Amino acid sequence: MTTHLIQGAAILGGEPTDFWMRDGVLSMSEPDAADGVEMIDATGLVALPGLVDLHTHLREPGREDAETVLTGTQAAAMGGFTAVHAMANTEPVADTAGVVEQVWRLGREGGYCDVYPVGAVTVGLAGHQLAELGAMADSAARVRVFSDDGHCVDDAVLMRRALEYVKAFDGVVAQHAQEPRLTEGAQMNEGELSGRLGLAGWPAVAEEAVIARDCLLAAHVGSRLHVCHVSTAGSVEIIRQAKASGWSVTAEVCPHHLLLTDELATSYDPIYKVNPPLRTAADTEALRAALADGTIDIVATDHAPHPLEDKDCEWAAAAFGMLGLETALSVVQETMVDPGLLTWAQVAERMSYAPARIGRVGDHGQPLEDGAPANVVLYDPSVRRVVDAADSVSLSRNTPYAGMELPGRVVATFLRGKPTVLDGKLA
Ligand SMILES: [Zn+2]
Repeated sequence: MTTHLIQGAAILGGEPTDFWMRDGVLSMSEPDAADGVEMIDATGLVALPGLVDLHTHLREPGREDAETVLTGTQAAAMGGFTAVHAMANTEPVADTAGVVEQVWRLGREGGYCDVYPVGAVTVGLAGHQLAELGAMADSAARVRVFSDDGHCVDDAVLMRRALEYVKAFDGVVAQHAQEPRLTEGAQMNEGELSGRLGLAGWPAVAEEAVIARDCLLAAHVGSRLHVCHVSTAGSVEIIRQAKASGWSVTAEVCPHHLLLTDELATSYDPIYKVNPPLRTAADTEALRAALADGTIDIVATDHAPHPLEDKDCEWAAAAFGMLGLETALSVVQETMVDPGLLTWAQVAERMSYAPARIGRVGDHGQPLEDGAPANVVLYDPSVRRVVDAADSVSLSRNTPYAGMELPGRVVATFLRGKPTVLDGKLA
């Protein structure tokens, strides 16, 4: 196996350092290499641990016209990720050991990024009956994260049972917090703007009410709750209180909720239609502050590929969701690092260490030091580029950033010492 020498990389943005990768392991001193050493000049590049996404939609099985495990993990590698959690809302739903093992195997065969399937909480995501959580946990896929994402587990008894059940194997329930009755037919953030545009509103309270209930339930049964895609200032305050009470609650924010606001809906372009919806500038501000102070633990992409026909139609008929894997690090640089809200070391915590801890993924999210798994991303923060949807390696093209200028570029990604991306291209 080739030894790679990374020369002059700024680990977590620190002083330029040389390090080596051999047999899938990092070494800070030169290893005895019988065969050749491949040198990569990393002058000016920031080295981060391989990113871990707790919230990705890979669409396979069932919607291979939108994305496959292979193309989705290629997009992940292009974004600097070495591990992704694949959401359960596939066709069939990932609610049995058989389906989660299939997704897990497809990830291993592709070799671009480790895939950790998320198991459904309820059978068919229907919200009536708990799925086989234990069988999925015991399967080869070793599922630890359970979610009905796309749907909310709104039945309080089912949510309580799920929280109790996952304690047996140190699992976590990741909730898509959306009170269904308050959001019937909802199209965009509820506010003055939704009234003016004539689009049905998705009120902040529909998210906040579920988060508050779930925090109380998690505390009551002593289990772990993870809140998906937090989008409102009010949600942040509830999570802040839960953490101050010592409850096991973690939360994620999506890059698009850090950067984009509901004003974009004035275009009526469904590229900006997402669930939960883009909120106000005040919400965006609160989310950035919460990610900076640790109230929100992680960034997760909610990468949601859709084929053209599901997006190229009128707003009300269009699917919810946007691409996110390839642009996540650039959006975090733009919204958090460049304004001085996060250091690169804190980015590593929020995009690698913490998501790996929440998902109980031991082989990822490790500091870049002697003996660590060689999961590494080399990133150039000094460049700026205009996003071109045609450049995406995803099967879908629904990026909301097309035509926008964003900072940074992933130069290389290594999964266990093997390059998945080199010179900004798939290896
Ligand atoms: Zn969701």
